[in-house]
Amino acid sequence: MPFKPVAEAFASMERITSRTQLTLLLTRLFKSTPPGAIGIVVYLIQGKLGPDWKGLPELGVGEKLLVKAIALAYKATEERVEKLYKSIGDLGSVAERLSREYRARASRAVTLEAFMAGGGEALTVRRVYNTLYRIAMAQGEGSRDIKLRLLAGLLADAEPVEAKYIVRFVEGRLRVGVGDATILDALAMAFGGGAHARPVIERAYNLRADLGYIAEVVAREGVEALRGVKPQVGVPIRPMLAERGRDPAEILRKVGGRAVVEYKYDGERAQIHKKDGEVYIYSRRLENITRMFPDVVEMARKGLKAREAIVEGEIVAVDPDNYELQPFQVLMQRKRKHDIHRVMREVPVAVFLFDALYVDGEDLTSKPLPERRSRLREIVVETPLWRLAESIETSDPEELWTFFLKAIEEGAEGVMVKAVHRDSVYTAGVRGWLWVKLKRDYKSEMMDTVDLVVVGAFYGRGKRGGKLSSLLMAAYDPERDVFPTVCKVATGFTDEELDRMNEMLKKHIIPRKHPRVESRIEPDVWVEPALVAEILGAELTLSPMHTCCLNAVRPGVGISIRFPRFIRWRDDKRPEDATTTQELLEMYKRQLRRVEEEAAEKV
Ligand code: ATP
Repeated sequence: MPFKPVAEAFASMERITSRTQLTLLLTRLFKSTPPGAIGIVVYLIQGKLGPDWKGLPELGVGEKLLVKAIALAYKATEERVEKLYKSIGDLGSVAERLSREYRARASRAVTLEAFMAGGGEALTVRRVYNTLYRIAMAQGEGSRDIKLRLLAGLLADAEPVEAKYIVRFVEGRLRVGVGDATILDALAMAFGGGAHARPVIERAYNLRADLGYIAEVVAREGVEALRGVKPQVGVPIRPMLAERGRDPAEILRKVGGRAVVEYKYDGERAQIHKKDGEVYIYSRRLENITRMFPDVVEMARKGLKAREAIVEGEIVAVDPDNYELQPFQVLMQRKRKHDIHRVMREVPVAVFLFDALYVDGEDLTSKPLPERRSRLREIVVETPLWRLAESIETSDPEELWTFFLKAIEEGAEGVMVKAVHRDSVYTAGVRGWLWVKLKRDYKSEMMDTVDLVVVGAFYGRGKRGGKLSSLLMAAYDPERDVFPTVCKVATGFTDEELDRMNEMLKKHIIPRKHPRVESRIEPDVWVEPALVAEILGAELTLSPMHTCCLNAVRPGVGISIRFPRFIRWRDDKRPEDATTTQELLEMYKRQLRRVEEEAAEKV
């Protein structure tokens, strides 16, 4: 398949302002793509070479090298490229312009150069992908030169519009705003005959989180073939997520009366895959974190009595002296250090296992929780640092509450209450009422922190003048796949944090509002939805300025947070994992009820 239609699609996407249009455009593109190429087309439009969990190396082409490659490709001086870059402000557009000039020059002069520039074969999607892949794979001594030559060669053969988007891809600035959800929609329209096919495609994707693979299967064999998709060791399953609750009796009712209640450990979720002696560990956002936890790899190797298994647990830092649970921050500190083997001794971790998703060829995701847990018990060989999560089974709210207090006292964050009825399957990738979390932190008015996405930023004044120092934050609305704003956060940042934040934001600034953002506020700069931060506030309040839950409580107003404060970055979350508008609405309603109850008590 030629690359040009893909590059042209990128160009159209840049002009598109609504998600519906975006989906239509992708649908058309997918329909015209041969099944053999659709996987790589999907990766390319996501600005990737493969799913994140494959841990493929970065392209490793910095700005300097890129300038060199453009100069080399179009026989221009580096000074000229730099100068154009300064005046246009975008290397992609510089490449586009120089490519056009180069081709015009070449077509006037009948030379070898002309033949090379104009008469070469059209770029194919596969050649572009393979070259980018080779650029990423070139590592170590001499790799800079290899990268330079590969890229210059590709650019020399590219048409202007192709050159523009190849450069943007290499810079990691494709920013066409296509999320997983949009791609799933487009696949359903292109190959499933419409939106009704979406759940089947999504379920398959949840079990095998590789959009390229899923696209290829559905394009080749149709939607029905996806029903047979099973988990596979080495390919992460999208995690099942929990709703939040507050009142033990109400939570028990929601999960069907009886429940398994487990400690909710405050660490990092780990999906552990084992096949013979090989172990892979994936994070909550499906990144491959195997290398960070050689100790966990060893535990899994020895502690899972199955040839093949996929299990889930929480990795928690523990005190080396007494194995008591340590706060989340300690685990994060460990992750930042480089000398892993020393750190392993200083900050040991424990793994608390809570689910089994696949064992020796059997897909357990469609089995009820009690069956999954009993399979887990069968295959786990426990040690003090590799154990099943602390749990009870109960239908008594009092007992649940006591267990919750005990969990908190021992350093957990609260409890997870899990349904045990016939339909208590593992709903991969879905947040639902089969699992309900009950967390501490109900002391402050706002009962819980929320995780919000940065969508814009404002420059500071005074000491912080010239720096971006407050953020426009949004929640996620999964139904419409948009990010409506919730609040502006200006406090909670140390000076050091602020500098780091300015560095982080640089990569994500975009010239206009992202098509999936809904805002009534115009920030100084727009930011593409990519960074998630944990926010705590004094209370939830109604606001005419924000679009979160607009009209849900009262016409014309949304829900916002009073006195929001930055707590920490949640690098482990994707924008789509942010707190949802529905959750904020629930929190708001609960808060109202509580205020009413307190008022009643005073009377
Ligand atoms: P939070 O921000 O509250 O940590 P989250 O949005 O990251 O939540 P949720 O699904 O809402 O994810 O909360 C469940 C998380 O709690 C899991 O992702 C997992 O990391 C952690 N966890 C700790 N103990 C357990 C347990 N026993 N069962 C399931 N999840 C657990």
